[in-house]
Amino acid sequence: ALRVESATVRFGDRTVLDDVDVGVEEQETVCVLGPSGSGKSTLLRAVAGLREPDSGRVLLDGADQRGVPVHRRGLGLMFQDHQLFPQRDVGGNVAFGLRMHGVSKQRAAARVAELLEMVGLPGAEHRAIASLSGGEQQRVALARALAPQPRLLMLDEPLGQLDRSLRERLALELQQLFAELGTTVLAVTHDQSEAFALADRVLVMREGRIAQSGTPLEVWQRPASAFVARFLGFDN
Ligand code: ATP
Ligand code: MG
Repeated sequence: ALRVESATVRFGDRTVLDDVDVGVEEQETVCVLGPSGSGKSTLLRAVAGLREPDSGRVLLDGADQRGVPVHRRGLGLMFQDHQLFPQRDVGGNVAFGLRMHGVSKQRAAARVAELLEMVGLPGAEHRAIASLSGGEQQRVALARALAPQPRLLMLDEPLGQLDRSLRERLALELQQLFAELGTTVLAVTHDQSEAFALADRVLVMREGRIAQSGTPLEVWQRPASAFVARFLGFDN
């Protein structure tokens, strides 16, 4: 489980994450919504240790992560700017994290086959990245993030590049997959229907703070402020 306590991140004199508390329980999927620039990616980067908070704490399974390097935190990451390796084939991409964690070549191959099956790309090991559609590339990136069985999977706009119909279908598939695997997930998205399909709970961010936290239904039925209501597209 993840616990973020009073995390603050500043860039110069701008406070981009402002005293934020976030909890993600074991096997829970939490989606972070909010306008561009509200601090969603910064929150994920702080949890990963790509940008340590200036104050506050990040706890994973109760252990303070300050100073723990990103690859030792037991996370699966799929970020906006985390591209696949174009020079490796699909199998090479998915196996990347496994080999880095010292898994043997043979065991990695079996696990890669299993992961590709899971994300709906069975037998795709030897395909070139350039030969895949956008949606297929996102599936490969997801398989790569899931490969080391992370204790927390963090997704930043996982379906951002896809068209709406594919996005909605994949969101439902992901929701099923995470439930089956018991994965704990913190995901950022712009897209409300994606968040509402995936999430046990949503967080709405505004200017570096949490404007509301609740189940999709709670947030939808009882927006905590005019800001949240407006963000959800209600006019009054
Ligand atoms: P988007 O939906 O567009 O991805 P976001 O909610 O993920 O937005 P962040 O990327 O977390 O937003 O950025 C929050 C604010 O922090 C923005 O105003 C951004 O310009 C600023 N910011 C982020 N990273 C840096 C940085 N390295 N240096 C300075 N400012 C930064
Ligand atoms: Mg972002």
